[in-house]
Amino acid sequence: MLKTLTTDFELDLQADILVIGGGPAGTWAAWSAASSGARVILIDKGYCGTTGCAAASGNGVWYVPPDAEARETAKASRESLGGFLSDRHWMDRVLNQTYINVNQLAEWGYPFPTDDEGKPYRRSLQGPEYMRLMRRQIQRVGVKILDHSPALELLVDEDGAVGGATGVNRQTGGRWMVRSRATIIATGGCAFLSKALGCNVLTGDGYLMAAEAGAEMSGMEFSNAYGISPAFSSVTKTLFYNWATFTYEDGTVIPGAGSQRGRSVIAKTLLQQPVYAILDKASESMRPSMRLAQPNFFLPFDRAGIDPFTQRFPVTLRLEGTVRGTGGIRIVDDSCATSVRGLYAAGDAATRELICGGFTGGGSHNAAWAISSGYWSGKSAAEYVHSLKEQKAQPHLKSVGEVGLKSQSDRHYKFATDEVIQAVQAEVFPYEKNLFRTEQGLTESLARLNHLWQEIRSSQVTSNQEQIRAREAAAMVATARWMYSSAIERKETRGMHKHLDYPEQDPNQQHYLVSGGLDRVWVKTQPLNTTEKRLSKIGAAV
Ligand SMILES: Cc1cc2nc3c(=O)[nH]c(=O)nc-3n(C[C@H](O)[C@H](O)[C@H](O)COP(=O)(O)OP(=O)(O)OC[C@H]3O[C@@H](n4cnc5c(N)ncnc54)[C@H](O)[C@@H]3O)c2cc1C
Repeated sequence: MLKTLTTDFELDLQADILVIGGGPAGTWAAWSAASSGARVILIDKGYCGTTGCAAASGNGVWYVPPDAEARETAKASRESLGGFLSDRHWMDRVLNQTYINVNQLAEWGYPFPTDDEGKPYRRSLQGPEYMRLMRRQIQRVGVKILDHSPALELLVDEDGAVGGATGVNRQTGGRWMVRSRATIIATGGCAFLSKALGCNVLTGDGYLMAAEAGAEMSGMEFSNAYGISPAFSSVTKTLFYNWATFTYEDGTVIPGAGSQRGRSVIAKTLLQQPVYAILDKASESMRPSMRLAQPNFFLPFDRAGIDPFTQRFPVTLRLEGTVRGTGGIRIVDDSCATSVRGLYAAGDAATRELICGGFTGGGSHNAAWAISSGYWSGKSAAEYVHSLKEQKAQPHLKSVGEVGLKSQSDRHYKFATDEVIQAVQAEVFPYEKNLFRTEQGLTESLARLNHLWQEIRSSQVTSNQEQIRAREAAAMVATARWMYSSAIERKETRGMHKHLDYPEQDPNQQHYLVSGGLDRVWVKTQPLNTTEKRLSKIGAAV
């Protein structure tokens, strides 16, 4: 439904391009757009440079020098795990662009360490340094940043093209509006407020906003990534568990828990009893460098007085949803355009099936995708804006957001935000519902989620500040419905989608599942290799 804009905006700004989200994807998008001559505004829910999941972590990056054999190994590494849904054309592009852009970071002064042979080691980025540098770089090229200003809904013109967004400033409570000729959604994934490290700003807002403007999702069944964390903390950094032994309470080793598919073993065990870990496979000589590499991994242990190398500690699995899953907004060509004119998607907000199929993009691919898709979306959006005719008059914009916004006067109930959040979490957190999926479980969950959607649809929100949380809650309900609707359609086990009723991978289902819709959710299949057009003119150059 289109709504006429009110005029009570504290800020009313204009730009060529609006970037929503200031993580790696958003900042690379803003940088490439501004470097192409566009006037760019970037808005973030938090403080750009410190918010989102990359800022809080060490980021392994899919950085592979242009050596044919090394690139071939890199491409093959997750093809089978991802259920053969990835696309080598996209892998090649991402490997090329990531290599160029990471080298650009070195030129900007990112302090890459050197390896044993004195060569720079560029396969990992420390979140705080990386994102501080990205904030500086986008300011240098003239990007205007609005911090603490979550976007709540998109604006569209008479032809349905996206023309900006509106939102609320968290600090003043006032509303802002940015009119733009292209908009890039880089709002990250959805981790359902599970408190996984850096993820509590990632509530699927971008999916909801994009869907309201008519965009589609893809791969939403690949949305059940869980990160290991100590049971007493929310730090879901998982690299060092490669050196862990997992045991039952009595100290007996849990068979298979340390393998590549060990999450399922851990989850199955957690359904019955506690699981413990100890990092006893890390040699004495490695331990100091591990502390240096990921200091915040050790913080919860230091606080609890536990030495994780010599003492066992209880672990749990926290939902990271689509953050380290691969589903997201469907992009239709090499430019990272969505199916809606003027709207682009990048980073975790977009599907990552193209480079890692249905298996997690964490550990390397996601970081590379954020860099590359961010860069391409910014450059393409700038080219798109440049191609448009000079505007004679201000386009007539309307807002398209509905659920969780306060403008509808005919709603009867107060939006019970906390209850809604708990209700959606009750459907997506439990391993027995989301990790070990069954036809019956998915159908029952979906029925409850559909009912929840109907309830919030007729609920009233009264203040600007309340809208922020209500929109997050609505986005989570919408995301969960696309997830489970897609999961029901994928009647097989592929990538991270484990279906207990269909435990085998079915060669007849080697396709994507595209989903969308709000009141009525739909899912359809899409064959591989059908990104509608490949824009070869978008070169891999910084
Ligand atoms: C603990 C952990 C470790 C990880 N380690 C790795 C790794 O080693 N290698 C790897 O490849 N990947 C890793 N990942 C995944 C990786 O961090 C993400 O893929 C990457 O950060 C995606 O970048 P992004 O810019 O799309 O999203 P994010 O970095 O999450 O940024 C999204 C931004 O959008 C903002 N935002 C959200 N909603 C709104 C809104 N409504 N309005 C305005 N702004 C909004 C947020 O505040 C945030 O700044 C890890 C993830 C986690 C959780």
